[in-house]
Amino acid sequence: MSNAMYIHVPFCDSICAYCDFERCKKHPLLTSRWLDVIIKDIQDRKNEPIQTLYIGGGTPTSLSYDELEILLSACDCFKPVEYTIEANIENLTKDKIMLLKEHGVNRISLGVQSLNDHLIQIIERHHSASDIFSKIDEIHACGIENISVDMIYGLPTQSLDIWLADLKQIASNKKISHVSIYSLTIEENSAFGRKKIEKVSDELDEKMYFEGIRVLESFGFEQYEISNFCRYGRYSRHNSAYWKYDDFIGIGAGAYGKEEHIYYHWPFRLNDYIKGTLKREETKLTKADEMFEMIMMGLRMKQGVSLERFNLVFHEDLRKVFHEAIEKHVRSNHLEIMNGHLRCTCEGWAILNSILIDFME
Ligand code: SF4
Repeated sequence: MSNAMYIHVPFCDSICAYCDFERCKKHPLLTSRWLDVIIKDIQDRKNEPIQTLYIGGGTPTSLSYDELEILLSACDCFKPVEYTIEANIENLTKDKIMLLKEHGVNRISLGVQSLNDHLIQIIERHHSASDIFSKIDEIHACGIENISVDMIYGLPTQSLDIWLADLKQIASNKKISHVSIYSLTIEENSAFGRKKIEKVSDELDEKMYFEGIRVLESFGFEQYEISNFCRYGRYSRHNSAYWKYDDFIGIGAGAYGKEEHIYYHWPFRLNDYIKGTLKREETKLTKADEMFEMIMMGLRMKQGVSLERFNLVFHEDLRKVFHEAIEKHVRSNHLEIMNGHLRCTCEGWAILNSILIDFME
């Protein structure tokens, strides 16, 4: 039994220039056949004690009002504490917001990415800077008060000043309680990759990250994970399940899940999915895999990995299993043991990947 469920909606109204996710352009015929299958998959898991439900994509709000109503109604069998949906500004209409609220959605993750009209155009998104804050007001007025915003840095032509000015505007809006920041990756199969577009230099990229943290913290946001910040205590419970290495159910072509020591992926083959012939790809996790992955995910969080939980899951003492790596990095002030958790210091967070190599060995 799992407490967390992710549902993947693979459709988007249009494709952003940097995107290589598991998604495709929406087509009404395809959508209605996809809905029939995904609803059955959701219903098959209706007895799961779901605490956090996350509908992501793609763009779930690219579904029409009627399609969204069908999807949300299928999820009415769950009573999650946190119920998140990803949304894009241009297709999150007021009637859809009301519908989300009616079905118990209490958290919206908005794909904003940039407030700069020129950059919004470069990444081929379809809202304008002025739409963003009126949409946030509308969501809030409809009674959904947990609003998260995704922002990207390192975009071509983006300067440090533009990035920080965007973050200041976002952070000074009190209706926003959560911000995720991501460094642009140029994916080979994205429009940027095909056009051989280059991102900003590594040096500027690093500056954008660290200065970005400074700005968000100065507005009362707490960095609780490498890329995630919250205030009013509104951290993402669903994503925390990933970082704490809990099991989670993945539903729909393109979704990932982890249950009973198996990590799985539903390949993004919509035709097979619709025909009911899609098979999930599975990786059986050994105890050693799971111990390492719990460290890898947990060190992303400010609170780190709980020694007690590690012991409960694996019946082993984390400090003994990874004795050498811990000793080495505590000595160099990259790791510390605090309040029953192994966690990174600020210096350690900056070099997490190289710390993890020692845990692999
Ligand atoms: S970035 Fe999001 S909205 Fe844009 S194409 Fe990719 S999944 Fe769709």
